[in-house]
Amino acid sequence: RPRGLPDVATLAAGIRAGDRALLARAITLVESRKAEHRALARELVQEILPLTGNAHRIGITGVPGVGKSTTIDTFGSNLTAAGHKVAVLAVDPSSTRTGGSILGDKTRMAQLAVDRNAFIRPSPSAGTLGGVAAKTRETMLLCEAAGFDVILVETVGIGQSETTVADMVDFFLVLMLPGAGDELQGIKKGVLEIADMIAVNKADGDGAVRARSAASDYRAALHILAPRSPDWSPPVITISGLANEGLDVMWQQICLHRDRLTATGAWQERRAGQQVAWMWDLLRLRLTEALTSTPERSARLHALEDAVRRGDMATSTAVEDIAALIGL
Ligand code: GDP
Repeated sequence: RPRGLPDVATLAAGIRAGDRALLARAITLVESRKAEHRALARELVQEILPLTGNAHRIGITGVPGVGKSTTIDTFGSNLTAAGHKVAVLAVDPSSTRTGGSILGDKTRMAQLAVDRNAFIRPSPSAGTLGGVAAKTRETMLLCEAAGFDVILVETVGIGQSETTVADMVDFFLVLMLPGAGDELQGIKKGVLEIADMIAVNKADGDGAVRARSAASDYRAALHILAPRSPDWSPPVITISGLANEGLDVMWQQICLHRDRLTATGAWQERRAGQQVAWMWDLLRLRLTEALTSTPERSARLHALEDAVRRGDMATSTAVEDIAALIGL
């Protein structure tokens, strides 16, 4: 065990007791890339597993400036006022490049940051999206074991990050700006396909009318798409994160979605499917890491890639060579 780190039983007991300092240390352990830490992290996650799965997991996405942190701050505070315990996590694969996460930033969630019933954790900076997501998933489990019953996972639409977050939550909320028209062209069609709800934010003051008109545009756009689930047609609502308007309706819809899907069994099915998909994700990560674990292996991989690119080597031959690198 690394020096200064409490043992797994102490960490697990601390998490169970809702000790925030120990929860934070446990998350640091889960985020660590050191092999010795990872073994301990696995042990810890296995240990707390029976206490997980009880939170309502909600993903929130939207372009920078749409009002994610403002809305999460207000929405999260409404929830804690209603007796919930709220954890805010972030998935930001660019945080490695920018040297710090722009998401899950405490200074941007002033109310929640000082709320005893809220816990904010910025994005781990683990390089690849897959690596970030794996750590966020485990952090989510730790938060659940610590008694947080609503987990908000924030992400921006960089590359595949929305899909990745949608795959780890029960409900995926997409925030949009008013004044659609042109914007509607700009948004990725894929995002509409994975949304469980669209909330047009900034529906206040001068923005109210434009927000309502944007909402009807999005309703029309969603109408064209085949529904993802027979149990749920994604609603489009207007909100103001700043003025705390429409957030009650937002929560009602999120709960209605849970009730409907639970009744049909689709909820449990989605969770189970996510677990299995996660297993394969982790395995793929593991294999990729094993393949690049030494400079010799990396060099060999590059050489094989070059040979395939030049057409000097059959792809299937290269794959056999690569598999042999890790003893397959
Ligand atoms: P993020 O980048 O998506 O996290 O967006 P922020 O929450 O930082 O908000 C970006 C800007 O929009 C800030 O200046 C906010 O004050 C403003 N903003 C956020 N929500 C609202 C809203 O509901 N109404 C109005 N009028 N402004 C908002």
